[in-house]
Amino acid sequence: MTVTLHDIRAAATRIAGRIDQTAMVRSPSLSALAGIPVQLKLENRQVTGSFKLRGASNAIAQLDAAVKLKGVVAASTGNHGRALAHAARLEGIRVVICMSRLVPSNKVDEIRLLGAELRIVGDSQDDAQIEAERLAAEEGLQMVPPFDHPHVVAGQGTLGLEIIETAPDVETVLVQLSGGGLAAGVAAAVKGLKPTIRVVGLSMARGAAMKASLDAKRPVAVEELPTLADSLGGGIGLDNRVTFSMCHDLLDEVVLLSEVEIAQGVRHLYAQEREIAEGAGAIAVAALLAGKVSSNGPIVALVSGRNIDMELHRRIVCGELTEFERMDVAKKGNPGRCH
Ligand SMILES: *Cc1c(COP(=O)(O)O)cnc(C)c1O
Repeated sequence: MTVTLHDIRAAATRIAGRIDQTAMVRSPSLSALAGIPVQLKLENRQVTGSFKLRGASNAIAQLDAAVKLKGVVAASTGNHGRALAHAARLEGIRVVICMSRLVPSNKVDEIRLLGAELRIVGDSQDDAQIEAERLAAEEGLQMVPPFDHPHVVAGQGTLGLEIIETAPDVETVLVQLSGGGLAAGVAAAVKGLKPTIRVVGLSMARGAAMKASLDAKRPVAVEELPTLADSLGGGIGLDNRVTFSMCHDLLDEVVLLSEVEIAQGVRHLYAQEREIAEGAGAIAVAALLAGKVSSNGPIVALVSGRNIDMELHRRIVCGELTEFERMDVAKKGNPGRCH
């Protein structure tokens, strides 16, 4: 099963008016560093604080009337749950969100405020997924998965259309990679419009399930570990139907970042670009700062979300070494302090 440029264009029409077309801005500091023009696609400013609203809105818009009466359910590390809660509430649909105890409390509170029913179970994304499947089977709720569904992938892909529209000369797109809905959708869109583009996926070194799966040439499970990029945690599903094969076919490279590097991305976005980003959101910028990606032409780096605990954000931008950075084997020293 795959998602085509045609599906993504249809999704863009369907969700117009339900999402914002986010800004794309030049980054003089990153352009100087890379020696080539770098633009940032600011999806951290999307309604609900991440791009996940695109996929959730596209999926909700295609539910049939009988399903809308019963409601929807999802397992989510936070941003998908938040997006689905928002999209479902707009349509007056019941929504139940299942999540693990690892999800930060700020994300839990925000989803509750959006009017969703919450189920907090287990210590991993997989436990939350099992609970969501139980509710789907026993209460007849429709599962809306966070990444492995063609409607979700097509919705995330609408970002790719906006990138090419604004920067037709882009040569390399840097995109976050977890379950692969975002990367698969964006890659299908940008390569559909411009086949020569390179798409690079970025994950954290601590628990990169898609990278391990691509290396193994089949979906594999990895241990889920605490990371600053908590929105990139979790597996890709051993019975993955859509995103594994699309990422296998469409991604040119996958780059892994340490906790120290991810923190530098968050800090740079705040200090230089005046943007709030969560760890996952900052990982493409982190890859540029770390000198881990190269390109022959203009780069677009996606900033995918901003839903970070603000106390953690304060500690990072003040240069405190967080518990996440301490877990890195090779420490790079204290980057500075707030005055
Ligand atoms: C979900 C998410 C990702 C990863 O998306 P996938 O489709 O699971 O690969 C990246 N960044 C943020 C902020 C997210 O919420």
